[in-house]
Amino acid sequence: MSSTPDTKDPVIVGPDVIIDPEMCKGCNLCTYVCPTGVLLISESLNHLGFHPAEYTGEGCTGCGVCFYACPEPGAITVYKPPRKPKKQKEEV
Ligand code: SF4
Ligand code: SF4
Repeated sequence: MSSTPDTKDPVIVGPDVIIDPEMCKGCNLCTYVCPTGVLLISESLNHLGFHPAEYTGEGCTGCGVCFYACPEPGAITVYKPPRKPKKQKEEV
């Protein structure tokens, strides 16, 4: 296995949420539970005739609450930047 980073891997620079509008049933659960209120229901319709949820584009903390609340597998993907390793205490 190579230790060189794969340039095809997405670079996660910050928390982000992606909603697949065609997988969404517009149940509104995610918009209700999002603690920062950054999700809303779109005025447009998807191919199933539902108004899908959408991200306003900023303010997501990557908490994942919407992911766990959503009853549609694959409708919501949450991205969190990797945690920075904790600094080890220096021995005195
Ligand atoms: S991950 Fe958290 S902050 Fe981001 S949209 Fe989902 S519920 Fe809201
Ligand atoms: S919880 Fe899932 S199905 Fe319901 S509106 Fe949000 S993304 Fe759509």
